[in-house]
Amino acid sequence: MAAFTIRTYGDPVLRHPATDVTEIDGALRQLVDGMIDTMYDAAGLAVAAPQVGVEKRLFVYHLPDDETPRTLVNPTITLVDGDEWTYDEGCLSVPGLYFTIQRPRNVVVTGRDLDGNELHIEATDLQARMFQHEIEHLDGHLLLEHLTPAQRKTAMRILRDRQVTDVRPRKSDSVTIDPDGEIVDD
Ligand SMILES: [Zn+2]
Repeated sequence: MAAFTIRTYGDPVLRHPATDVTEIDGALRQLVDGMIDTMYDAAGLAVAAPQVGVEKRLFVYHLPDDETPRTLVNPTITLVDGDEWTYDEGCLSVPGLYFTIQRPRNVVVTGRDLDGNELHIEATDLQARMFQHEIEHLDGHLLLEHLTPAQRKTAMRILRDRQVTDVRPRKSDSVTIDPDGEIVDD
């Protein structure tokens, strides 16, 4: 299946809470195949269904240590522990921008795989961060909501300028914005 176009900041679909998947069928598997192709095309770690315009609660991911891509259907975070860490986090829907963001290090996520099996995953570090990020997409939220006021101000200025010029950033143009709102060149 051909890859999808990734919806970017400003697209209303990214603001809508997605609804539970009620049936894991051929159509859903076809959607997943397209989402995986899209993820590989964009060189991302994960893609949530709303990012390709589908308001269903599922996402695909492929972490560096995984041999194959994985799918999580109707995921829920059941436990978050107190330890937090910072990382320069990006989002395919906010291309070219990375933000130093603090998040919980450990979460437990439940959901189903594409065979309908119940999953219970104790995740840490990058996997835990990705799960939090993707589940937020399913709730209609973006990583921009985690920014400090100074970070947000810089991000909004860049995003506004981009809308005026309508220029999509190239990968080489990516920048990181630290919690003080300063731009740190990669
Ligand atoms: Zn994202």
